[in-house]
Amino acid sequence: MRAWTRPAVPHAAGESVPPRLYDTASQQLVETRPDDVARLYVCGITPYDATHLGHAATYLAFDTLQRVWLDAGYRVHYAQNVTDVDDPLLERAAATGVDWRDLAAQQIELFRHDMESLRILPPDDYVAVTEVIEQVGRATRILLDRGIAYLVDDDVYFDNRAAQEAAPWVLGDESNLDRQTMLALFAERGGDPDRAGKKDPLDPLLWRASRDGEPSWPSEAGAGRPGWHIECSVIALMHLGRDFTVQGGGSDLVFPHHELSAGHAAALSGHPLARVYSHAGMVAYQGEKMSKSLRNLVLVSQLRDAGADPRAIRLALLAHHYRSDWEWFDDGLGEAAQRLATWAAVVDRARANGVLEAVPAPAEREMLDRMRAALRDDLDTPGALRAIDEWAAGRPGAVSTQLTDAIDALLGIRL
Ligand code: ZN
Repeated sequence: MRAWTRPAVPHAAGESVPPRLYDTASQQLVETRPDDVARLYVCGITPYDATHLGHAATYLAFDTLQRVWLDAGYRVHYAQNVTDVDDPLLERAAATGVDWRDLAAQQIELFRHDMESLRILPPDDYVAVTEVIEQVGRATRILLDRGIAYLVDDDVYFDNRAAQEAAPWVLGDESNLDRQTMLALFAERGGDPDRAGKKDPLDPLLWRASRDGEPSWPSEAGAGRPGWHIECSVIALMHLGRDFTVQGGGSDLVFPHHELSAGHAAALSGHPLARVYSHAGMVAYQGEKMSKSLRNLVLVSQLRDAGADPRAIRLALLAHHYRSDWEWFDDGLGEAAQRLATWAAVVDRARANGVLEAVPAPAEREMLDRMRAALRDDLDTPGALRAIDEWAAGRPGAVSTQLTDAIDALLGIRL
């Protein structure tokens, strides 16, 4: 599927090293040093209620990771899915009287516009589930044939216990959750722990047999449609291969989605899904986590329509560490616009005075070093912004193009 237009990323002169990133599975900071190409998978949207600031913050976090890798001299291969057929989408379509395909197409297009306006680097492979139905059906068949999946009526379930015996994967190793918490989250986030006939309440659905009034496709697993987690396992294996560099997403995906996607992929390939499992925090609004069900969403498109500079939206999000849970306040945008104006004034003044230099002055070098050091330390964007703030507060007379290029390359802000 078409992604969106890639923003230019200037080559920023200078040395850098790969970032250290907090790994959810090992619960520590680990170096994300790619072999040759950095391979990144970030879970995409279910296309309704796009694009709220929680989404934007997550994609911006992994945009920053890519920019740090690029700055360190690595090539990046990035894949992202779109869950364009799943229960929540079908429910929303039915509730609003819209065809689910039209709802998905319209929301994906809105998401593209939002990502493009925020200058988020697009995935190299942007893949809708409806594009890989055949492959998911085949993967399900393989798991059935290997005895790692079983039937309940005509639906296919993943056998967690069999997978643990056959593959390098243990349920709970990624999320570090106890069974009670896993059961609660499983029920809350699309799972069906109480379904009769399952071997383990936590066994997830791989393939849902066709039912009246629901979309379905023929496949090697019978007529039906994919379960949720298997789509990401299949898309990641197809486009990135096994054992890729970083699996990313919002922290609400840690369990069950990422844990079980990793289980499916390990059972299919015999190797771990990824080396590092990285998660972005949740964004709250009006005291509650921003979510579709609570209807307390702030949409990127609303802010854009109200005239916000997309660079200010970007800066308002970058002012928070990606891993923290934080609350959006409406004045956050005003503060970001002020920060942007302060930085832009320095550059505009230098440009007007004809002192846009090629080579950075010592104070600029120091600022660049601080910015890079902050970003490679678990993507500390607030620290990077502070370094630029302090440099701008010194009201430097001259500015180098290396510095403006580096701010653009690493933070996606063109001054
Ligand atoms: Zn996913």
